[in-house]
Amino acid sequence: MTAVRVIPLSAGECLNIAALTERGAAWRIQAYPAGFALLLHPTRGAVLFDTGYSSRVPALMRRWPGVLYGLITPVRLQPQQTALAQLARWGITARDVRHLIISHLHADHVGALRDFPAATFHLDGQAYPPLRSLKGLRAVRRAFLPELLPPDFEARSQALTFEAAPPAFAPFARVADVFGDGSVYALPVPGHAPGMIALLSRTQETAALDGDGSGLTLLASDAAWTTKAARTGEEGHPLSNLLFWDVNEGRRSREKLRDWLAAHPRTRVIVSHDQPEPAAPEPDV
Ligand SMILES: [Zn+2]
Repeated sequence: MTAVRVIPLSAGECLNIAALTERGAAWRIQAYPAGFALLLHPTRGAVLFDTGYSSRVPALMRRWPGVLYGLITPVRLQPQQTALAQLARWGITARDVRHLIISHLHADHVGALRDFPAATFHLDGQAYPPLRSLKGLRAVRRAFLPELLPPDFEARSQALTFEAAPPAFAPFARVADVFGDGSVYALPVPGHAPGMIALLSRTQETAALDGDGSGLTLLASDAAWTTKAARTGEEGHPLSNLLFWDVNEGRRSREKLRDWLAAHPRTRVIVSHDQPEPAAPEPDV
């Protein structure tokens, strides 16, 4: 089976109150990385899962109505932290990125879409329609900044094709094999945002989907605030529910993810706003 290399990166940080994101945490300001990931695919090349922030986000936060977004989650971003700047260190240019998989359309995940003019955007068909007509304050309220989408966003978007999932994905009933080669699968985890997905990557060719999770990496996006919470299914503070698109749907998604991880405990878990779990050591061959 085709395997990919998964490199977790982050482009900037957002500041938030710790007690809102983790039960029992202190009421203090904490910086959270705006995570994204570079996937190196043997034939598709450099693939991105989200982008983190770009300089466009702080710029939008300097004027109305983006300034409100900036008040809720202030952003810190150095020029050398952008996705583009970091990919350059891997010898990857903007035009090399032909595939960009979008977990959901919150500004901290799609801040740099405009930096990748050759990319096809892969996303859940449910992610954009509920946001498309939102403008100004109504968009900001949904952590959505329409100005971050390139003008040809819809023309370059390709809806993920979800199909009945093999039993190894239970309790997920539907899954999308993004490139049709078994290397990366999108799992629907809506709730935090409409049409949100998590991405399951095969990082070893021999990894079995119905095994203990060895050789698999789960990019859980914002389905949990911490890797620990992804594994335990624990909720954030009730106040953080205010940011949810659909609280009940989010709870069901979190439970599914927790149950899937319990059945595949050796899966490496990476959530967008926490430190990634370390990669497993390479097996002796
Ligand atoms: Zn989000």
